Order: sequence, then structure tokens, then C-alpha cells
Amino acid sequence: MPQRIVIVGGGVGGTIVANLVARALRPDEAMITLIDATGEHAYMPGWLYLPFNGSEGIDLTRPERGLLNKHVQLVTGEVQRIDVSAREVTVHASPGMAGMRGTGGAIEARYGYDYLVLATGARLAPEDLSGLSGSEDAWHHFYSLDGALRLGSALRVLNGGRIVVAIGGIPYRCPPAPLEFLFLLDEWLRKRGIRERTEIEYLSPLPRVFPIESVAEVATPLLEQRDIHYRVFFNTDEVDTERRVVRSLEGEAAEYDLLVMIPPHRGARIVEEAGLGDEQGWIATDRATLEVKGHEGIYALGDATDLPVSKSGSAAHFEAKVVAARLIAAVRGEEPDPQHATYDGEVMCFLETGHNAATQLVFNYENPPHPPRPSLFYHMEKMLFNRAYWHIVPQGLV
Ligand SMILES: Cc1cc2nc3c(=O)[nH]c(=O)nc-3n(C[C@H](O)[C@H](O)[C@H](O)COP(=O)(O)OP(=O)(O)OC[C@H]3O[C@@H](n4cnc5c(N)ncnc54)[C@H](O)[C@@H]3O)c2cc1C
Repeated sequence: MPQRIVIVGGGVGGTIVANLVARALRPDEAMITLIDATGEHAYMPGWLYLPFNGSEGIDLTRPERGLLNKHVQLVTGEVQRIDVSAREVTVHASPGMAGMRGTGGAIEARYGYDYLVLATGARLAPEDLSGLSGSEDAWHHFYSLDGALRLGSALRVLNGGRIVVAIGGIPYRCPPAPLEFLFLLDEWLRKRGIRERTEIEYLSPLPRVFPIESVAEVATPLLEQRDIHYRVFFNTDEVDTERRVVRSLEGEAAEYDLLVMIPPHRGARIVEEAGLGDEQGWIATDRATLEVKGHEGIYALGDATDLPVSKSGSAAHFEAKVVAARLIAAVRGEEPDPQHATYDGEVMCFLETGHNAATQLVFNYENPPHPPRPSLFYHMEKMLFNRAYWHIVPQGLV
């Protein structure tokens, strides 16, 4: 009997695990099922550029099926229950959705597993910040395709004023993204000839402009050179969209004409409902093996975990190789090879600094990054990566 591997989440982490395992194991060794709520795969790093480049972002979402090895069964539907004692998940989906089993108009199906992988990502939780819920037209963000497109429309009719870019809660996806946005915004406003009548302010709850000191040391002078104001230790507590002011727990206030707020993030609802998450819904995960603490045979990776690394596609990518190595060894009844089956906190990402330059952040649990001087070289590497992504990353070819 093949072992049953069920993967929940078809983002970068879940997709790479599925493809690596499917390539290594024969169908008579493992039956691999990937369950995703949408059946669509989003390339989120592309959202950063949408407010400035006028694109509709059509190429930033692709059908998950086209990215998966043919031996992976794709189920499009939302996992609504995880029963860790019975070792099964329950999926709800609309009738006729790809991969759904069941009879007639049945919209519920159960999938038993021997191994479960949770790659459920993070979700935006604007309701966690007073004043944000229900007022999506009064503030902006670039943390979804729609959000980035709406922000682009708002910027195109702007004729100066005060733009505030604020962090609404920690942790959030891709720590470099707000800084990258600021640098690209500055460049874009200069090109439009309205920078002199536009003030930009960045509000961060951290003690510096970036969580890691060595990166803050590179970014801070760049912000100053570009006349981008910043306030640290600004813990956003409330947004008053009527008066257009952001208030902090510390009693400070920042007025704006246009607000770009990185919304608070949480883990997936299902994680909270299954009792596998902390108070924000992040899964307690072993930092080396990526096994869910206290649950043998269940692994977690990517944004869904509580690991002390950036919530980034890059971390998910490196973690996926570790999870796949452990699953392959387990199915074959072998000991995992510690070299390939241990996560050391590896992350590699770029930080756009505007004007066709970027730097690169390479780090792990033990070694902080030493970002090189921003240059065209790293910007071109990032541009190349953005294009190559669809052909090499989800497939687990790099
Ligand atoms: C603007 C922006 C820029 C970024 N730039 C970069 C960058 O340059 N470099 C970088 O490394 N990272 C970047 N990131 C972060 C990166 O995109 C994420 O960290 C990465 O996508 C996380 O992958 P994941 O597989 O953990 O989760 P996700 O990609 O979020 O996938 C989770 C999947 O789980 C599914 N799911 C959730 N709950 C259920 C359920 N109950 N049932 C079934 N399916 C479910 C969802 O539908 C989703 O498809 C950026 C993010 C943003 C927003």
C-alpha cells in the first residue's frame, strides 16, 4: 500500500514539497495529494511593482495544476477540519471543483493521511487594527493583487501631499517589502515631477528601520539621502480614516493624505481551529526538523510557522527541501540524511533600493546578512528571478 502524503496549501512551500516528493517516490510508494483553497498559485513578490508599473498583474497568478508533477493529485477546496487523532482532513468545496471526490452534489470529502504537511501561509487580518476593518477604500496596501492595483490607481491621481507608510503589526510577510516600496515610491514620484510637493513618512514599531541591524545600517542612510522621514518605536494602535491620522500606543500621531498600511497578519484560520497555532495562528514548529511540535508525522513550513526567520518565499523554498527529504526517508523507512534534512534558517532575498539598484540578503539562524553595496547587478538578478520563477521554483528545480 502506498503511504498517503497530504499537503495543505499550494503556495510556494507546499508546491515544492509536492513536486520534490513526487519526483523521488514511485506511485506505489506514496500517494501525494495537495489540497489548496483556490487552485491558483500567486507570485506575491510581483505585487510590489504593480502600483508603479501600470500592469494588471495578469502573469502573477497561474493555475496550480500546471505547476504540479502529474503524480500529484490536486484537490481544490478548503480544508475545514484537521483531525490529528483520526489522521484525516475534511475538505469543503463547490461542486465540480477540480479533484473533488464524493457523490452527486457532495461538497465534503475526507482525506486520511500517514504524513501531513501544513503549508497554509499567512492571511491578512486588518480587523486586528482599530479603524481598518470595513474601510478598505480609505487606506491602501500592496499585500494582495487587488490591493496593489487599487493603490496604483490612487497614486496615479495624486498630486502631492503626505504619504504615510506604516507597519500594522509583527510579523508580516517579506520584511524588506515596505522599505522596497518606499524606495520605489520615491523614485516614481521624482520621475513624475511631484516629489518636491510630496512628503513621505515611514512608521515602524521596531527599534530601527529593519529588523536586522546590519540591514538597517544600509537602509537608514538611503532613506535619509532620499528625504524619506521615519519614526521607529511607533506601535500603530488605531487608524482614524475620517480625520486621516494614525495613532500609536505611545501616544504619537501621524497625519496623512494617503495611507499605505501593511495590515496585521495571522496564520490560516484552520490552524487556529485545529488548535495547532499560537494566539496569532502560527504553528509551533521544530526549527531544525520542521516537524510540528508534539505531532509526529506532521510538518509545517513557510509563512505558517512560528520560526524566527523572515516570512518569505525564500525561507519556504529552503524549508521545502528539508520537509521533502524527511518525507522521502520516512516513506522508505530510512534515517533522514542530516545534511539535507536539517533546516539552518537559510534565507536569500533581494532588497530593491530604487533607481535600478538592489542589494542581497543572505543569512541563517546563526549568521546575519552582510548586504553588499546596492547595485544594478542585484536589481537585474531580481528581475531575472521574477521571470524565471514560474519555470524553476515551484517545480523544485533550484
Ligand atoms: C508584496 C510582497 C512581496 C514579497 N516579496 C518577496 C520576495 O521578494 N522574496 C521572498 O522570498 N518573499 C517575498 N514575499 C513573501 C512570499 O510571497 C511569501 O512568504 C510566500 O508566498 C509564502 O509561501 P507559503 O507557501 O508559506 O504560503 P502561501 O504562498 O501564502 O500559500 C499558502 C496557500 O495555502 C492555502 N490555504 C490556506 N488555508 C487553507 C485551507 N484551509 N485549505 C486549503 N488551502 C489553504 C492558500 O490558498 C495558499 O494558496 C513577498 C510577499 C508580498 C506580499
